[in-house]
Amino acid sequence: MRFRYLGNSGLKISEITYGNWLTHGSQVENEIAAQCVQAALDAGISTFDTADVYANTAAEAVLGDALKGERRESLEIFTKVYWPTGPRGHNDTGLSRKHILESINGSLTRLQTDYVDLYQAHRFDTETPLEETMQAFADIVRAGKVLYVGVSEWTADQIRAGHALAAELGFQLISSQPQYSMLWRVIEPEVVPTCRELGVGQIVWSPIAQGVLSGKYLPGQPPPAGSRATDEKGGADMIKRFLNDDVLTRVQGLRPIAEGLGLSMAQLAVAWVLQNDNVSSALVGASRPEQVHENVKASGVKLESDVLAQIDDVLGDVVERDADKTAANSPRTRAV
Ligand code: NDP
Repeated sequence: MRFRYLGNSGLKISEITYGNWLTHGSQVENEIAAQCVQAALDAGISTFDTADVYANTAAEAVLGDALKGERRESLEIFTKVYWPTGPRGHNDTGLSRKHILESINGSLTRLQTDYVDLYQAHRFDTETPLEETMQAFADIVRAGKVLYVGVSEWTADQIRAGHALAAELGFQLISSQPQYSMLWRVIEPEVVPTCRELGVGQIVWSPIAQGVLSGKYLPGQPPPAGSRATDEKGGADMIKRFLNDDVLTRVQGLRPIAEGLGLSMAQLAVAWVLQNDNVSSALVGASRPEQVHENVKASGVKLESDVLAQIDDVLGDVVERDADKTAANSPRTRAV
């Protein structure tokens, strides 16, 4: 496993991060979840990502149990705040001072740790003044509960404004967590150039497009048994944006490219995001330990420019590149 700096901070993270959205506390049994975490540790992954909202707080608890007994200093544990949790009361959401200060305490208890390495604003909160949010982050950094602060799915302008306030308040906003894959490149025109300028690193989610870029979903055929597309607890709904025959046919065209390089299609997908020098880590999920073993082999793979060009030719116009899709990802108003 290779390691990269997270933005221009001094924090090193594994080039591949293990994330537990839709799996822990939901799609997979706790025993399988623990096996996936162990597979990640065995492969040299040191960085783990979760969120208070995943499985309505259960995912943090499953990860906390799975990491129990590991040397804390050898891990980087990331979580997030914004989406409604618990009974979804009127203050159980957003980036208000009240919710940030309360939510971090709940996350630390569930994760069984005194601090998280990175605390991320899961979306931009249009209803709370950014100054209030950043002051609350500054206070939990000072209190030692959080080492660094990041954001997720913020636009370039939002990142710039948050970064400036963080600097004024004396803490570091070092990361952005957007969706990024061969199929979803909306950060390339605006978010990435701004982050390069500011020294903010990307931790990119769904690099395998939720499993679609593994090539296992075939056009015109039902999804394989046990896959995310069959997970009625939430996964099926989340993956459906990619499940159309146009996309699936193009994706099959990547198979010879992967084979020519001696890679699986999932490895090619993870390696692809790691070619971007603003990407600090590829944030992969897994429903089985074998997937972790397979995907980690993408660390350190170099893809030459002719291969990148072939990938672009094969995928053609099914690639989403519209920069406005980042703004569309944050709700205009809070959910509750
Ligand atoms: P991926 O694109 O890595 O998809 C992971 C899923 O794809 C697995 O659960 C598995 O699903 C399937 N898969 C993985 N490897 C293989 C393989 N080798 N062969 C076949 N199928 C495979 O990422 P996720 O969508 O899971 O997201 C990763 C992480 O990103 C999350 O856990 C979370 O931490 C973060 N995230 C952040 C968001 C944000 O808003 N900040 C939003 C979403 C995710 P299955 O076996 O069930 O088909």
